[in-house]
Amino acid sequence: MENHIVINNPKDCCGCAACLNICPKDAIIMVEDDAGFIYPKVQTSICVNCGMCKKVCVFCKKNVGENPELKVYAGVINDTNTLEESSSGGVFSALANAVLQKGGVVFGAAWQDDFSLCHSAAQNGEELRELRGSKYVQSFIGTSFRLAKELLEEGRFVCYSGTPCQISGFKSYLGKDYDNLLTVDIICHGVPSLKMLKDDLMFVTGENPDGIRDVKFRDKTFGWGTKGSVITENRKVKYNAGTSPYYFYFLKGEIYRESCYSCRFPSEKRQGDITLGDYWGIKSELIEQLGDINPDLGVSCVLVNTEKGEKWLDEVKNTLSLALSERKSVEKRNGQLVRASTPLPEHRQLLDGYITNGFSSFISGYRKHTKDHIIRNIKNLIPSKIKRKINDFLSKS
Ligand SMILES: Cc1cc2nc3c(=O)[nH]c(=O)nc-3n(C[C@H](O)[C@H](O)[C@H](O)COP(=O)(O)OP(=O)(O)OC[C@H]3O[C@@H](n4cnc5c(N)ncnc54)[C@H](O)[C@@H]3O)c2cc1C
Ligand code: SF4
Ligand code: SF4
Ligand code: SF4
Repeated sequence: MENHIVINNPKDCCGCAACLNICPKDAIIMVEDDAGFIYPKVQTSICVNCGMCKKVCVFCKKNVGENPELKVYAGVINDTNTLEESSSGGVFSALANAVLQKGGVVFGAAWQDDFSLCHSAAQNGEELRELRGSKYVQSFIGTSFRLAKELLEEGRFVCYSGTPCQISGFKSYLGKDYDNLLTVDIICHGVPSLKMLKDDLMFVTGENPDGIRDVKFRDKTFGWGTKGSVITENRKVKYNAGTSPYYFYFLKGEIYRESCYSCRFPSEKRQGDITLGDYWGIKSELIEQLGDINPDLGVSCVLVNTEKGEKWLDEVKNTLSLALSERKSVEKRNGQLVRASTPLPEHRQLLDGYITNGFSSFISGYRKHTKDHIIRNIKNLIPSKIKRKINDFLSKS
């Protein structure tokens, strides 16, 4: 009987690579499907049927809930440069700095030279800059779980950050908690594939990835929001839902991997010691309590889920502006804390189109949406009195 993992349904695998990391024979590799999403593949000629990959898989486990959160805050890092480089309030960097100052190592998602995204280890401030900022695509875990475990066993402090499914996979791989480990998960509504992103970057810039120097999904020179930029060798290209089919469909929630639509992690029970997200709507809520900060540069919501998380936050509180809040306030504009994304009817059609016809299917669908969008906007500019007169005229003629 086969004792290794077999993915019969793509919704049953989030690509966390816990199975790859635990395999004692290195029999598992991650391979892309036709849409570019990565799944484990067991090389049966090497596999010894030990069953460890099946056992570690969080998607095969019934109960993945942990940590009902203890406290909720709004938070902003006091250092403006770091805040400008961060996607929300920069609380991740405050925590990461504290770990580095203790001689520790911080793991998170960093662009590689070819604009693939991999979980990498930062040991100093310069390397930490690479982890900063949200990258809206799936990050490859590689063998980073193994490296993090080695460091933990050596007694080094480790901060491991990522999506809730990655943190869940990491903890399942470790099999026990470590005093010297801090886990940070982000609020997450889903990830598209790297293949889609690379196609899109070529569409938006007209260049292949070699010519690209940086990709920012959240560029704060345009304010705190979902506007970004792509930097090529000689220009800066606007990157947002109005210029990019990928970004447009990402924000609409239509091009995520299948597991995201049945994600098991939107719950009061969180995976990280600390959960971070954007505190959307803060301007109408707690802003006075945050003191003299510029809310246009971003505010994080901080869910402190364990006593260990609380200790770390306490350690960095001098570098932050913090205000006590509550979960309900954060949930108002962050449905991802409560429920998984719902696939719209277009989702299947888009994916099938992408698999059959490539990126051109995204472009044609997107152009139709943007045309509709422009017409709607023009209609909204017409005062309602005049609209009524036009309608009256049309109904009489
Ligand atoms: C795919 C994705 C979806 C998100 N969806 C939401 C949402 O719906 N609501 C919400 O409130 N917040 C969401 N966030 C989180 C939010 O954008 C910020 O990342 C978070 O608030 C932390 O911000 P910061 O300013 O403290 O730190 P930043 O420096 O902005 O964030 C850095 C952290 O993000 C991690 N990270 C960046 N990209 C990835 C990636 N692709 N995979 C795994 N980890 C990554 C880094 O490892 C690091 O831990 C999402 C982030 C990502 C990557
Ligand atoms: S451990 Fe992660 S990558 Fe491996 S099968 Fe399970 S969900 Fe997929
Ligand atoms: S059953 Fe064991 S050897 Fe085979 S792939 Fe899984 S972990 Fe590796
Ligand atoms: S939505 Fe869920 S399954 Fe998808 S990347 Fe986020 S945590 Fe993982």
